[in-house]
Amino acid sequence: MADPRFDPVLDRARRFADAWLASLPDRPVGRPVDDDAVLRAGLGAFPEHGAPAEQVLDDLAAALEPGLVATPGPRYFGFVTGGALPVALGADWMAAAADQNVAARVMSPAATAVEEVTGAWVLDLLGLPGECAVGFTTGAQMANVVGLAAARHALLAAVGWDVEADGLAGAPVPTVVIGAQAHSTILQALRLLGFGSARAVRVPADDQGRMRADVLRDLLAAIDGPVLVNAQAGQVDTGACDPLDAIADVVAGREHAWLHVDGAFGLWAAASPARRHLVAGAERADSWTVDAHKWLNVPYDCGMAIVRDRAALTAAMSTSAAYLPLAGADPSSRVPESSRRARALPVHAALRHLGRVGVADLVDRCCALARQAAEEFARHPDLEVLNEVVLNQVLVRPRAGDARELAAAVARDGTCWVGTTVWQGRPALRFSVSNWSTTPEDVTRSVAAITAITAALGDQQSPAAGRGARPC
Ligand SMILES: *Cc1c(COP(=O)(O)O)cnc(C)c1O
Repeated sequence: MADPRFDPVLDRARRFADAWLASLPDRPVGRPVDDDAVLRAGLGAFPEHGAPAEQVLDDLAAALEPGLVATPGPRYFGFVTGGALPVALGADWMAAAADQNVAARVMSPAATAVEEVTGAWVLDLLGLPGECAVGFTTGAQMANVVGLAAARHALLAAVGWDVEADGLAGAPVPTVVIGAQAHSTILQALRLLGFGSARAVRVPADDQGRMRADVLRDLLAAIDGPVLVNAQAGQVDTGACDPLDAIADVVAGREHAWLHVDGAFGLWAAASPARRHLVAGAERADSWTVDAHKWLNVPYDCGMAIVRDRAALTAAMSTSAAYLPLAGADPSSRVPESSRRARALPVHAALRHLGRVGVADLVDRCCALARQAAEEFARHPDLEVLNEVVLNQVLVRPRAGDARELAAAVARDGTCWVGTTVWQGRPALRFSVSNWSTTPEDVTRSVAAITAITAALGDQQSPAAGRGARPC
């Protein structure tokens, strides 16, 4: 029996969700809004007196509509963006309805159990050591912070420095090493943790963005003392993975060394027997970052910080207070947050629904679609594919004209949405296939739109057209 205080309100939320989800396959994908002030005005002024809950949700739905982007839809190829599997969305609603706080086991034994079981499943699926701790974070950014905070603790504790108590001022700070193509969130993590982003030693990358393990070897040979090495599985532009086995070989020979792998999306390759080789050696690291809201297709926001040395993680993340019944095993001892939602529920639901075979299929399907896109792009004489398509990322550049102008025209067209980047000094389009619902037809339709727009822009810019337009 439904509670009449909730029932009609949730019904309105359900109506919004139904209309939005049903619109995803057909609506214009990007919504370039010329004037954000219009969106703000649509939300009205702060009222003196409230309004009925149903009306609030209906008004909100109407105000949102002109500024919503179909990022969870099948033809959104921007950034690395997953959608939401129906089962994960359903579990997310359950997490909101249950409104459990996963700070401490005593607050929700159920949500704590879901986190622990789901974390163990993720380790199994990704081939990571079973003894690792898993913290559920807002995303890969915070997972990187958590992994590097655990590293900071362990490397400094090993030389007798208590960084949690005494901070970094005057500390024998370990040397931080990153790849030239490290993700911006690694730099942000270094800033937040007091390492500083500019002090990190950068290892050059090869033409696909992979860290050069041979250069790393030489660099480390010249560095004394503790080192924190950051490797990557899945470069955001090319999808390329660092040679993790070779990097682990180099790091393994050192006394005080920690290897962190940022595998926000690329680490999911480990779930596919066909692509596992790309991340071989990942299991030899000390900490890992992986997103759930990208390739696993759970709703925002969810990532995971995985750390082998549980004691180091707990030392870096634990808090205590007289009123808090927290123990080292409580979920808040694995992440920076105290109170937080039952974020693992959608991950659990997705894994339970897909199974090992289903996750592998999701990864393989997206990779096959990326390869299909690359082949279709390559058939067009005006476009050039720039990367080896090993995962779900395709980098493509118009041979003439400006990639950013092309992306803007593609956004206006609305068939699909693609992002841009600068790859090896030149702007390019990024085409990322990360959504569970994307089909081969979606890819063909999107590539056709992009190639047609490329041709149309080329005609406008060709010398003949230019001569016609120029007054004599
Ligand atoms: C997307 C990404 C991140 C950041 O992930 P968020 O979930 O947005 O915080 C970090 N590293 C890599 C390699 C990524 O692709």
